[in-house]
Amino acid sequence: KPLRPRQRLPAVPQGIERSQFFLAIDELSREIGNENVEINDKPLDDGWYMEPPNTHDGMAITDEEDLVASAVVYPASTDEVQKIVHWANKYLIPLHPISMGRNFGYGGAAPRVRGAVVVDLGKRMNRILDINPEDCTCLVEPGVSYYALYEEIKRRGYKHLWIDVPDLGGGSVLGNALDHGVGYTPYGDHWAMHSGLEVVTPTGEVVRTGMGALPGNNTWQVFPYGFGPFIDGIFSQSNYGIVTKMGFGLMPDPGGHESFLYTFEKEGDLEQLVEIVRPLRIAMILDNAANIRHALQILALSGKPRTAFYKGEGAFPSEKMSEYMKAHPYGESTWLYFGTCYGPKEIRQLKLDIIHREFMKVPGARRVDPATLPPSDYFWSRDKISSGEPDLEELAWVNWWPNGGHVAFSPVAPTRGVDALRLWQMAKKHWTASGLDFFLDFVVGLRELHLIGECVYDRDDPKQRSNALEVMRSLIDEAAQKGYGEYRTHLLLSDQVAGTYSWNNNALMNFNEKLKDCLDPNGILAPGRSGIWPARYRGRGWEI
Ligand code: FAD
Repeated sequence: KPLRPRQRLPAVPQGIERSQFFLAIDELSREIGNENVEINDKPLDDGWYMEPPNTHDGMAITDEEDLVASAVVYPASTDEVQKIVHWANKYLIPLHPISMGRNFGYGGAAPRVRGAVVVDLGKRMNRILDINPEDCTCLVEPGVSYYALYEEIKRRGYKHLWIDVPDLGGGSVLGNALDHGVGYTPYGDHWAMHSGLEVVTPTGEVVRTGMGALPGNNTWQVFPYGFGPFIDGIFSQSNYGIVTKMGFGLMPDPGGHESFLYTFEKEGDLEQLVEIVRPLRIAMILDNAANIRHALQILALSGKPRTAFYKGEGAFPSEKMSEYMKAHPYGESTWLYFGTCYGPKEIRQLKLDIIHREFMKVPGARRVDPATLPPSDYFWSRDKISSGEPDLEELAWVNWWPNGGHVAFSPVAPTRGVDALRLWQMAKKHWTASGLDFFLDFVVGLRELHLIGECVYDRDDPKQRSNALEVMRSLIDEAAQKGYGEYRTHLLLSDQVAGTYSWNNNALMNFNEKLKDCLDPNGILAPGRSGIWPARYRGRGWEI
């Protein structure tokens, strides 16, 4: 009998009797505290970015009930995480760890296996364990958001320390880095900037990586490698451990910054622009990740819905976009380059002059004078993000459709004009055929070019949702045929993406599976994450 009346029949993991499952949940509740274990028996509420659900994907692309948790548990310490892991091994119950569950566009907080127990680390494990103002480092738990870290640095009066933030500041510093997330200061590659992990393994041991393995060390956050194999990598985008602590380098205030915006009129300008960007970015004259945006997203960033611009069916017509851009303060344009240079005036001016000279080689290129833009303009949000101040302005484009949802196509290419153009043409072909709208952003980390193609849909429209999933699948396949692979993907697309990394008879996945079976013999941790299935799930119809 349920302990209390249920408003929704909770999903239960396959392979365990419903009654047995609830007895096991009672046991967990006794161990972690009744108030720290919640059964997912309420109607599913999608919330919004600042109040994301931890029971399912708030932007579900298939039926919401497909990827739901049976229950959510809130540990307060590494010790409690170990207890949860031991419990899961005893009953063979799948766990799905999240830090804050704001992984929108990639599956949110949803587990890949219906009925898994979500381990929501963020709610009670949210301490900033250290900020070292001399070394410029920090050590955080999973529930520390960019906002929280930013505020704490301010509160402590460390004026010389910056953080690096992604487009939205509500995510977890640790969770974002584990999924290879990115931001926009020179410290934008979050994984590259980490130093040291504490991990609970799927069998319940606690490991500290790098210098953290040396008792009494004072170097955990300053030297990531320690001694011996560098194992940190296997805990990112994986299901080999639950990360309970993570260290990061923090960027010192560079002594000033200046953001700039250039516009490029024609679709084909992308090729020349990317050729110009490559040497400048590799040489770090372009100081932060290059951000080349398609103008349609600029319309959406106004915060107005699509219907304010166009009421017709099908993909948004490019002529309409040009028409609106003519009237926009940025002027007629297809591509916009948002960038920032850092350092005292005399240092950044040298770089800004080179950038100006090079960018203006593209016929029709224009520099937008920031002084002409009102304080509410999106440019100022980019300026904040690029100087390490968390912001939420970027959410505006999600409201393009009522009940907006999005799913990302994120392939990686070399920073070459021909590759950028090829990806652009491919994306355009598919989105035009699907009748959906895409917001495209080419981001150059250092040597590589990421296309972040966000397909936006109305979450309440099943046809749009299934179209979006279908177009993603076609894009992944065509990209792979042309030699491009995704750096990150939605939960439901993980098997397909993992399948494209198939060199030498799937040698990489064979290796990943060997690791999985060795580290997680009972297959309890995030089965299916990144396409890695434990032995007891493999070949039983889970892979899609
Ligand atoms: P979580 O959702 O908590 O974690 C992400 C995943 O990592 C989890 O699903 C889980 O599989 C794994 N994980 C998390 N914690 C642990 C743990 N402790 N142990 C083991 N595994 C764990 N992302 C960017 O990177 N850059 C951007 O600029 C960006 N812009 C965005 C703009 C918009 C408008 C939107 C809607 C999203 C954007 N995102 C961006 C995507 C996303 O919102 C962020 O990456 C966000 O930080 C991820 O959510 P989170 O930090 O709460 O991580």
